[in-house]
Amino acid sequence: MNHFLHPLVNELLQFWDPSCYFSHTATCPAGCLVHYVLIPLICDVPALRKVASFMGHSGHSFCSFCCLQDSDITNFDEHVRLATMWWDAPTENLDIMKYTILDAMHNLFLGDLKRHLVNIWRMTSTAGKTPKGMIDMNQTMLPSWMAQAPCNLGSPNQGYVKADQWQTACEVNLVIMFVWLWGRLGSKQAHRAYLANFLALVMAVHWATKQSTSELHMKLYLHSLVRLFPLSVLKPNHHLSLHLVECMRLFGPTHGWWAFPFEPYNGILGSANTNGKEGV
Ligand SMILES: [Zn+2]
Repeated sequence: MNHFLHPLVNELLQFWDPSCYFSHTATCPAGCLVHYVLIPLICDVPALRKVASFMGHSGHSFCSFCCLQDSDITNFDEHVRLATMWWDAPTENLDIMKYTILDAMHNLFLGDLKRHLVNIWRMTSTAGKTPKGMIDMNQTMLPSWMAQAPCNLGSPNQGYVKADQWQTACEVNLVIMFVWLWGRLGSKQAHRAYLANFLALVMAVHWATKQSTSELHMKLYLHSLVRLFPLSVLKPNHHLSLHLVECMRLFGPTHGWWAFPFEPYNGILGSANTNGKEGV
């Protein structure tokens, strides 16, 4: 692929430095200076695979960062070996693989956190009632920059829970609740293990969304998850979380390139009137 893209990349480099001056354009009759730049592709995993023409994440080679097979998804040593190979691989002007970025918002908040509560813990209620312990959520005072999680989280009528609401629920409300329920003296050993596993996930997400970071906690979480819930097979999203650190080394802290600022445009585009026919 790189051989085909070389001419394009070389021309783009000239468009960046020294750049190009157009003497006349439709919107600038007096001319304008134009810089071209390649930007990384940032979106959720299904969209990323389609836009970049990669194989879907349900395929055997599910990872776009390394060549791990789905049969090896619980083999963490192989994760590390392949991730290290990927990071150390020589690159030229353009490495298309390193411009297809894993979005932290979808991977962590709508991926790992939501999956842990909904699919692994099965924190849902069919009785139409708010689950026990959730009632105090709307009495918790939060900093103004945090989104309030729905106090009926886990009930059938909770509605759509946004990414930042999953973050608040997991990093604040549920930590308070489960430390109180499972972390006190005399609580069952199994409950303490569930709590340690959940806190490892919360710390991994916390560190992945701060200015400084840690690679340790996501590995701790995945190791303990496989041990505690052997029937809940790891998903591609779990493996991709281990690649976040490489994206952070390339592009800096996650809040500089995550999808939060772009998401409102999805709503605007989704509500636009169309004739229902693509491209017409
Ligand atoms: Zn991988």
